[in-house]
Amino acid sequence: MKKHPHFKNKTILEILENYKTLWALGHLGSLAGWDIETYMPQKGIRERGESLAKLSSLSQKIFLDKSFVSLIKKAQKARGLNDYEKGVVRKLTRELKQYEKLPAEFLEEFERTTSQAKLSWRQAKKENNFKLFEPHLKKIVELSRKQAEYLGYKEHPYDALIDLFEEGWTTKEVEDYFNTIQPRLTQLLGHIRSSGNYQQEHPLEHMPYDKNRAAKLNQNILEFLNYDPGTLRLDVSAHPFTQGLGIDDVRITTWYHDKDFARFLLATIHEYGHALHKLQYDKNLAFTPLSAWTTLGIGESQSRFWENFVGRSQKFIKTFQGNIAELSPQIKRYVQKHGTEGVYRYLNLVRPGLIRVEADEITYHSHIKLRFDIEKSLVEGSVKVKDLPEVWNETIKKYLGIKPKTHTEGVLQDIHWSMGAIGYFPTYSIGTFVSGIWKDEFEKKHGNIEQHVSRKGVKNIQDWLAKRVHRYGSTYTLKDLLHASVKRNFDPESNLKYLEKKYKRPLI
Ligand code: MG
Repeated sequence: MKKHPHFKNKTILEILENYKTLWALGHLGSLAGWDIETYMPQKGIRERGESLAKLSSLSQKIFLDKSFVSLIKKAQKARGLNDYEKGVVRKLTRELKQYEKLPAEFLEEFERTTSQAKLSWRQAKKENNFKLFEPHLKKIVELSRKQAEYLGYKEHPYDALIDLFEEGWTTKEVEDYFNTIQPRLTQLLGHIRSSGNYQQEHPLEHMPYDKNRAAKLNQNILEFLNYDPGTLRLDVSAHPFTQGLGIDDVRITTWYHDKDFARFLLATIHEYGHALHKLQYDKNLAFTPLSAWTTLGIGESQSRFWENFVGRSQKFIKTFQGNIAELSPQIKRYVQKHGTEGVYRYLNLVRPGLIRVEADEITYHSHIKLRFDIEKSLVEGSVKVKDLPEVWNETIKKYLGIKPKTHTEGVLQDIHWSMGAIGYFPTYSIGTFVSGIWKDEFEKKHGNIEQHVSRKGVKNIQDWLAKRVHRYGSTYTLKDLLHASVKRNFDPESNLKYLEKKYKRPLI
């Protein structure tokens, strides 16, 4: 066998040799998944769904092959493994546990229920009719509770579900986290609203733009961010996302509307942050479990980093002001009159709104806390699915002082529950707060990020992130990565300080 720079242990090398088949199935599954969201003719879904279901049961069968399982068990007892090798054992042990603990009938039922639920959710959202989705969600909650029992947990059944998305995190920790950030964010929101600085509405929100010009702006942004068309492509989808097929093949999408250009601009930068993360994994991790997904919090710490610290910065706006002005004659007139400051105010509006994906840097976290509260109660059984619309409306009123008029902009707005992804939401907030830690650490060494927002300068940021975060792939959990890379514990303070500094200073 050829010598590998990271993997020396014989059992690990044998595992990796066998793993390549699983990797290949995953790779092609990702491509098929990306295609569903982008170019597949709509009616292809029945056959695609079946082929993906078969692909996943095939992967399970290959994974549970006796000789592969015994190699994993042998590796679990191995001594003197390095961090990469430990990472391989950790990831495969997790996967093995899930395959072993969840009966095949359960997995099939989960798959069947969620495919149906996704369709009914889409319909329910379109028709503003919660009743259509209710029986499906009820089933999903039951299955999630069952799943928690199968997987096991120490204190709260929701622990088992969070762990699926943010490895090692518990309900109690997420609760403590929200208890720390919420009072500070509420206070900051009060300050912002009384200062009159970050207005409630902005004229640019209502100005139409030309979609070809928008695509051109996105292209210019990607070029500014040193993208390589040989490894990354940008397409359009109903909701922006990133699909990493491999270290040298990452797909991102954006979306276009008739007006409100911040939506595509920030989405493109956000997804680019996800893509860069995957593209800068150490190339020696190709074909191994360490080049597959990282925890969702680590991923989101990268997308939010670029979206908030770069995309919303004055320097970035100044760089693209000319392109922005070309989006439409109306926008041009506005930009000529109000310049960088006008656009800055627009990209940094702060106001309580109903829709999570459109929320600002401050109120965003109340949207997540709302979902966390609800998921926890559903799993405990203290809230019934049929009462959800009411619970939703009361809770958002409590947190943000506003109430949706329709379920479409309330309880039905997100796709996650229909996918069976209960336990997912907290990672969005935690990941955003981790981005503040990376910012802190970068600035200790290289000074203010904004100084580096230039054609040459962004490379410094990208290289730092490659060295501190990206190259490890999924070798570590979120907390272990913070330790290994910057000797820090998870702590929301960095991001809280950033927000307080930014939103308490005079605007420009
Ligand atoms: Mg994201």
